[in-house]
Amino acid sequence: MPAGGSERHKVLAECATMLLHAENREGILEVALNAVQTLAAAASGDDPVVARFVPAEASSPFTASFLEALERGMDHAAPFSRGDGEEGTGFVAQVRDPSGSRVGFLVVEGPIVDGSGFVGDLRNLCIQVEMALHAAEVADAKIRERSEKVFRSLVKNSSDQYTLISRDLAIRSLSPAVEKMVENRHEQVVGKTILDFVHPDDVADLNAAVDEIVEGGKGSTVKLEYRVRYDDGTWRFIESVFTNHLDEPHIESIVVNSRDNSMRRNLEKELVRREMFDHLTGLPNRSLFLEKAALALARVSHRRGQVAIVLLDFDDFQLVNDSFGHAAGDELLKAAAAKLETIVRSDDTIAHIGGDEFAILVSGGEMPRGAELVAKRAFDVLEDPIVVDTTQYNVRVSMGIAFGGSGMTAEDLLRNADLATATAKKNGKGRIEVFRDEMHEEVVRKLHTATDLRRAIGDGEIEPFFQPIVNVGTGEIIGCEALARWRHPERGLVQPFEFIPLAEATGLIVPMGVEILRKSCTQCADWRKQGLVGSPFYVSVNVSPIQLQRDDMVEVVSTVIRESGVDPKSVVLEVTESCAMQHIEEAMERLDQLKRIGIRIALDDFGTGYSSLSYLSRLPMDIMKIDKSFVDRMTGGNEELKIVKTMIDLGASLDLTTLAEGVEEEGQLAVLNRLGCRSYQGYYFAKPMPVADFVEVLAAQKKGAASALAATSN
Ligand code: C2E
Ligand code: CA
Ligand code: CA
Repeated sequence: MPAGGSERHKVLAECATMLLHAENREGILEVALNAVQTLAAAASGDDPVVARFVPAEASSPFTASFLEALERGMDHAAPFSRGDGEEGTGFVAQVRDPSGSRVGFLVVEGPIVDGSGFVGDLRNLCIQVEMALHAAEVADAKIRERSEKVFRSLVKNSSDQYTLISRDLAIRSLSPAVEKMVENRHEQVVGKTILDFVHPDDVADLNAAVDEIVEGGKGSTVKLEYRVRYDDGTWRFIESVFTNHLDEPHIESIVVNSRDNSMRRNLEKELVRREMFDHLTGLPNRSLFLEKAALALARVSHRRGQVAIVLLDFDDFQLVNDSFGHAAGDELLKAAAAKLETIVRSDDTIAHIGGDEFAILVSGGEMPRGAELVAKRAFDVLEDPIVVDTTQYNVRVSMGIAFGGSGMTAEDLLRNADLATATAKKNGKGRIEVFRDEMHEEVVRKLHTATDLRRAIGDGEIEPFFQPIVNVGTGEIIGCEALARWRHPERGLVQPFEFIPLAEATGLIVPMGVEILRKSCTQCADWRKQGLVGSPFYVSVNVSPIQLQRDDMVEVVSTVIRESGVDPKSVVLEVTESCAMQHIEEAMERLDQLKRIGIRIALDDFGTGYSSLSYLSRLPMDIMKIDKSFVDRMTGGNEELKIVKTMIDLGASLDLTTLAEGVEEEGQLAVLNRLGCRSYQGYYFAKPMPVADFVEVLAAQKKGAASALAATSN
């Protein structure tokens, strides 16, 4: 029974509504096929019909005959017979997309009762399908465009440094942060390729990186450091993470997230320079000097030659500092350095190895005469008064000469020269002594001290002094550093520089360190119990590399903390960079374990040690202590200020609390405040002091009588 006209209309109307709700091409075709099936079944009487969709790109045996049928002038529907030799009749209608190209065919196989109006229905249905496909495509494009816009605006407004590039490295879009970073406007950059800005030597690496993530597929990333040309023509180091979002709808780019590494790089370069050269005089410093001495010794070890070190130490230099000030002292050292430079031959090395000490490495030439001549010339040139800013200084020096050859280390040679200089001082100053073996008796005396030190640790003569750590902005005491002192029954109060090196050389630093930690933790717990300090207050204890290397380090520290009853959050351990860098994997594992207990870690003397800052982010640090030498020079000029600022910024970027050490003047404090440094310690606030004095300071702070601090000292 042919379907009535009204029924067919109903089917078509329902189909139209359903097409409106279909979400995509698959949905649309499903609705359409259901409708075709219903209409065809009605038009075929009871005979079975098959309705299906054949995509245009499918090459089926039917395609040829569909096309042939359509060629006969019919647009949407054409009767066909199967082309595979088997009998078959039916209708085919083509579906086109909005641009007019064929999407596929709606095919109905089976006997269709003539005059049922089926061909017209099929044609109508195809038009509906085409419209629905068109609408879906438009909607899809709209969504795409919108999401693309949303994504772009995300990028545009992001404070992160994003660049979107295409597979061929063309720049598609960049966030303002990148514009700012390269000081380049959007319109100047978009359309160019990223390679237009990359250093020629880094192009290969960059291409390889992009190839890698393209190969890796969706979401794969790679990190790369490379140089980028800035507007001012300079090359700077950039570190980028490249992520493959090429197949991501709406992004279809490689997303490059970058940061400027030049701050870190420059600081690194500067620190390396400092590691080798003395800031004041520009001469090689102690480490470079020792390196050169070692080289010279290695060279003479092949033949029977000798190397000499001439050491020169000003007599009573402290008097200059005390009567004319440190600045005058510095100028005097500079002038002396310039004079000394005039008397050394080009293949000898002169270095400023510390304080008021200079050293000259004499290699080659006739020995010992050559070295003695150099020493005599140095002595004479300093005999003449040195004039600095119209002030005339008459300085005198004590000098020591030591000779060395095959089998000797640079350190030994320098130590011998040092012993000779000490002898010159002992014998009346203003003279030159040559090292003799008897001078080693001094060393023997030191061994005596080692026995003494062992006894002292047992007798509890080593105790911590405490130096307040202060909030830069508010002046509030937020913690303290424990600094070891030796209360010697005969010698009185002995300072760390006189026994820490000995303690380290003999391994006594280990029991001593435990004692200092125990006393410090016990004190801190006690202050807390008395209500003198709050919970954020901490005590910071120095750890020597030798301690960190011990297998039982973590266990010992946990035990001390547990037994003292201190909150682990109130304990900070200070390690130096070089300390953490020795056996770095082991050290990091140990520091991580300590952190798991709740202890925090401070990086002590930052800037003076190992200068590969790339390690810095790997170390589990909480606090960065900027070394006093940087704070000292900060007031000197712009350059120094920049370095301290870089350090503070670097600290902030790694989420570290920065602490400035050795603050002595109000001016330094103001600068630190401006640069964003949050905490400091130094004589400006207070010197390290015995526990009884520190308790008074805490009590005074508690009473709000901060002014009482001025009176305290050690
Ligand atoms: P450090 O850890 O860098 O300690 C800071 C040093 O700077 C302390 O010297 C402190 O008194 C001094 N200081 C603080 N503020 C100022 C200032 O404004 N001006 C000046 N000129 N100096 C200031 P100290 O107490 O003589 O200690 C020297 C070093 O001995 C320490 O340097 C540390 O490396 C070592 N040390 C001290 N106690 C211990 C300890 O218990 N264990 C270990 N392993 N080392 C310790
Ligand atoms: Ca320290
Ligand atoms: Ca320090």
